Amino acid sequence: MLSSDFSRIAETLDMLNKSEADWIHCDVMDGRFVPNITFGMPVVAAMKKHTTKPLDVHLMIVEPEKYIADFAKAGADWLTVHLEASTHLHRTIQQIHQHQMKAGVSLNPHTGVMQLEDCIEELDLVLIMSVNPGFGGQRFIENTYSKIATLKELILRRNSKALIEIDGGVDLHNHKRLVEAGADVLVAGNTVFSAKNPVEAIYHLKHLTQNITA
Ligand code: ZN
Repeated sequence: MLSSDFSRIAETLDMLNKSEADWIHCDVMDGRFVPNITFGMPVVAAMKKHTTKPLDVHLMIVEPEKYIADFAKAGADWLTVHLEASTHLHRTIQQIHQHQMKAGVSLNPHTGVMQLEDCIEELDLVLIMSVNPGFGGQRFIENTYSKIATLKELILRRNSKALIEIDGGVDLHNHKRLVEAGADVLVAGNTVFSAKNPVEAIYHLKHLTQNITA
């Protein structure tokens, strides 16, 4: 949603409801963990009213544990916190589950996958940042592919059910390679909202085909 027109949230969600998108990804930024500020609980709650799809809320905020109940109330179905922002990550994951949400942990580009070794069984999702978080429309970091492979190996070895989500610079050129590397969920902002036909862009992302008409 970060790349969408915020003055037309309801229209955008109507379009997404009719598309093959599985989830709605909401980037919450606080101006502290990342330089940018986006939106918080009231906007997430407003989105919830207009969507038929699960809300995938990505908290790029310090002290995310303070806001778990608020985001549950706002309607988040998946709640992802940053490892770098969580001092007591294991407890935070438990709190997310206590509020009946799926729990995700996100890793910045500099954070190694093996830092999740002692909590991977507890996780429903691991979000790998494939750009430095803070703004939409950034260039994809190539090291992401080897990170996915390391994470996939860890997930299989520990018998974890965690999905691998990739966020940042996902487009119609790298989508297939990301899924082949082991990604389960692709977040797309600009690729969808800069397209002439966003529904068609989502179709191509989903089916791992390229938009030959664009
Ligand atoms: Zn995100």
